[in-house]
Amino acid sequence: MGGYSATLDCARVGAASGPPRDSVRGPSSFQRGTKDLQKWLKRRWATRGDHYLGEWHFHPHVAPVPSSTDLQQLGRIARTAEYRCPEPILLIVGGDPAGKWLVSVHVIPSGQAAVPLQRMEDPARPDSPA
Ligand SMILES: [Zn+2]
Repeated sequence: MGGYSATLDCARVGAASGPPRDSVRGPSSFQRGTKDLQKWLKRRWATRGDHYLGEWHFHPHVAPVPSSTDLQQLGRIARTAEYRCPEPILLIVGGDPAGKWLVSVHVIPSGQAAVPLQRMEDPARPDSPA
């Protein structure tokens, strides 16, 4: 959940939900549930004006590369009017949960191939490399 810049070229992520209680986890799969998610989405909208921006999940012990299932799901979201999000963001955290994490971020425009985003360091943060 979050918002976009006035020029619509930058998304600000204000919050990311945890897995709803009815989510189903497998050794190499995850199906996000929906329990209480609509309530959370409506509350963020009402209190902060946040929009649905996309999805995130974890690829433990492997690279954060979107699977074909990931891309199909985000493509479906992009085409589903109820989401009101024709260009959802897919953020994947991969790597070792106890060690080094890796992150990938893609935008999936409706009817188009996923666009990988590149990491930019934040010059306003003192701990960012120059
Ligand atoms: Zn995935």
